Amino acid sequence: MSILQILAPFDGWCSALDEVPDPVFAGRMLGDGLAIDPTSGILIAPCAGEIITLPASAHAVSIRTAEGIDVLIHVGIDTVQLGGRGFDAQVRPGAIVRAGDELIHFDLDIVARGAKSLMTPIVVTTMDGLSLRQVRSPGMVSAGEVLFEIAGIATAAGIKTSTQPPRAAAPPNETAVGQTLIVNLRQGLHARPAALLAQRAKSFRAQASLRAHGRSANARSVVAIMALGVRQGDELSIQASGTDAAQAVASLVAGIEEALRMESAAGHGAAASRKTAAAPLGSVELYSTPGPGVLAGVIAVPGVAVGRATRIERREIVVAENGAGLGRESAQLEQARVHVRARLERIAATGGATRREIIGAHLEFLDDPQVNEAATEFLVAGKSAGFAWRAAIRRSIGALQALEDLRLRERVDDLLDVESHVLLALAGEARPMNIPLPEQAVLVAEDLLPSELTALDGARLVAICLSGGGATSHVAILAAAMDIPMLVGLGAGIRDIANGATVIVDADAGTLQMAPTAAAIEQARAAVEARLMRRAKTQAEAQTECRALDGTRVEVFANLGNVIDAAAAVANGAEGCGLLRTEFLFIDRDTAPAEAEQLAAYQDIAAALGPRPLILRLMDVGGDKPLRYLPLPAEENPALGLRGVRTALARPDLLRTQLRAALRVQPAGKVRLLVPMITDVAEILAVRGVIDEIKAEIGIRDPIELGAMIETPAAALMASGLVREVDFLSIGSNDLTQYTLAMDRGHPELAGRTDALHPAVLKLVAAAASAGVAADKMVAVCGGVAADRLAVPILLGLGVRELSVVPAAVPAIKRQIRSLRINDCQELAMHCLGLASAGEVRASVAQTIGLWGDTR
Ligand code: PEP
Ligand code: MG
Repeated sequence: MSILQILAPFDGWCSALDEVPDPVFAGRMLGDGLAIDPTSGILIAPCAGEIITLPASAHAVSIRTAEGIDVLIHVGIDTVQLGGRGFDAQVRPGAIVRAGDELIHFDLDIVARGAKSLMTPIVVTTMDGLSLRQVRSPGMVSAGEVLFEIAGIATAAGIKTSTQPPRAAAPPNETAVGQTLIVNLRQGLHARPAALLAQRAKSFRAQASLRAHGRSANARSVVAIMALGVRQGDELSIQASGTDAAQAVASLVAGIEEALRMESAAGHGAAASRKTAAAPLGSVELYSTPGPGVLAGVIAVPGVAVGRATRIERREIVVAENGAGLGRESAQLEQARVHVRARLERIAATGGATRREIIGAHLEFLDDPQVNEAATEFLVAGKSAGFAWRAAIRRSIGALQALEDLRLRERVDDLLDVESHVLLALAGEARPMNIPLPEQAVLVAEDLLPSELTALDGARLVAICLSGGGATSHVAILAAAMDIPMLVGLGAGIRDIANGATVIVDADAGTLQMAPTAAAIEQARAAVEARLMRRAKTQAEAQTECRALDGTRVEVFANLGNVIDAAAAVANGAEGCGLLRTEFLFIDRDTAPAEAEQLAAYQDIAAALGPRPLILRLMDVGGDKPLRYLPLPAEENPALGLRGVRTALARPDLLRTQLRAALRVQPAGKVRLLVPMITDVAEILAVRGVIDEIKAEIGIRDPIELGAMIETPAAALMASGLVREVDFLSIGSNDLTQYTLAMDRGHPELAGRTDALHPAVLKLVAAAASAGVAADKMVAVCGGVAADRLAVPILLGLGVRELSVVPAAVPAIKRQIRSLRINDCQELAMHCLGLASAGEVRASVAQTIGLWGDTR
């Protein structure tokens, strides 16, 4: 084995390639190496060899060593655009140079002013079979010092000669249609990340595929991705071909990062609760050792419960094998899928974040190209719609069951769930909801599907015990979100439990006591009580207010859709509700909700929030949120039509009913009102007028806080006038991005580009925020960007002091804010406002917070 040393080509600050603000280099798509931010303008040869490429612009050079290893030095990022300005080549292509020979002179000032970054990658572009040993750690380095070493397999020439044909180092982006990475997701590419990737892949024209373990998968198919069996630490290669191939690859890589963020956000909640729950309960362990009358299982959700064994039976759905003609059967299957999709979407819209995510994965299964192609095959072969659907699903299940990875095998339940939804729809039925349970029910079953769990009366369910099942199945994730202790894999022994028998579930120790003594029951009940008290204390600690590193107060609120979300928000430490999407409370119905019904719903949420404020957004109807009971005239372009406050003012009856309900929520003053889709101050004045009338009608004297949503460029630009008429501003970045970039927020092919970090959107956020700051009024952000960790420092730097995010994201956002200094954020925000694209903003923030020491 021989070693080749690569020297620093100039003086400067050495750092890892990850710091380079260009995904091609940072992602090592051109090769591995290091980067230097130069402090001198003389580039010397990092090794001896032949100059292979040195373009006329002289911004980059590559050298091939005698051993056939190619080293590329690319001075700065995007310096090709300088067209040679500031660069002076000292050698020509073909020249033979020694290490240390001068290759290029460049003017640091000119290049720094004209380039995106001076950061210079020094990479080995022919790494085949070679390994790199980093010699320099980050810090100052002088020209000629050893940067890193290349170790190669010994050949006659000493170092393995590259098997690649001679090739010039290609400029970044032109060859960017593939990237290989290591998947760092704790649970590998399981259903949710797979769904996320498939969704992204579908928004590009390019044909994208994923390769791992020598197999390839269509990136649009969740099932195919999962069937790759990618686990943590596995190498995954993403490839795409077609016009937007590079964007597709970048988007898929970003999808994996997003999955990582989601995993850490979810892990924070789930893992933390697991830790708390896993704290030894001492006395409980004394009586829960496996033995006679005690079954041992796998802990899916920790906790302890005492309750009555309750069995539920699953009805087998029978389907005929033969169909009544291809046309008829395919139409029926399509109709059933449409019906199930609408139903799942409705359930998702009214459920908590976990439920929404899991249903999102089910929706992906419903539309999965591989499953649907298989179903078509069976239909063409003359089978009935039900038979074809079941056979297609079972084929995918077969592929999953063949995998070694237990977690992927557990996705079988989700496929079965989607299978049963469609089969029930074909039979003209729907799964019954709110199935009654006895008080303190311990559900005992062979297995359980996610939709079967959500159909049960959760308030009476204290534990779940399954003879089969998996610890990371979606039903277990749902149970964790509902905080219901759960044991799986208890085996056939649970058949011996009599319906109604009192049992003790010790899901900390992994045991189920089938016939406990009275003393054991009493002891277990005391343990449950102690646990509840401990949890109350933990939750109280999570309520501490949030301050940045320099002491600046920043409120972290949660966006809510219903009372379940409210409970999750409180548990996660949200300091209030920054956005109650009231339209979601009454979405799935044919009649408008009466005042009493609305009041009851708002009051429940207010009660769940305890002393925390509740910002209640007036119904945001129209556009992408139609209501069945409020048929709006057909519009050519609903996103630009009657929606938000426009609908409210056009239907004063609905507005008045909602306001009467909202203003009667107790305690008085808890509810603050937020008006959606504002474009000018007249709309605020009109709503304020109605509020004043209703206050007079119901005898309220105290002021009611009123806020305007900044969701249109008009509102952002007019914010200084608006803010005079309101008590606070809340920036709805989802719509603000849509209207600023003229890109439908739901458009699948534009999904990768509707980015709230586009500098145009940031400029509007800056305009609104500075108007709020000047008027000394609170400026909040309640759109999705508030939970984007690359956005948080920019938003704080622009003057935003309240972020409202999905409940599960609260802890992570609080943690991030506590690590930030507002002065640094201001500097970063100002810099980002001058950048040219959302990609540049993201790269710049990633690099900067990396330097600040953000370790997540
Ligand atoms: C927004 O537009 O950012 C917002 C918070 O409102 P919604 O997503 O409900 O339209
Ligand atoms: Mg909106």
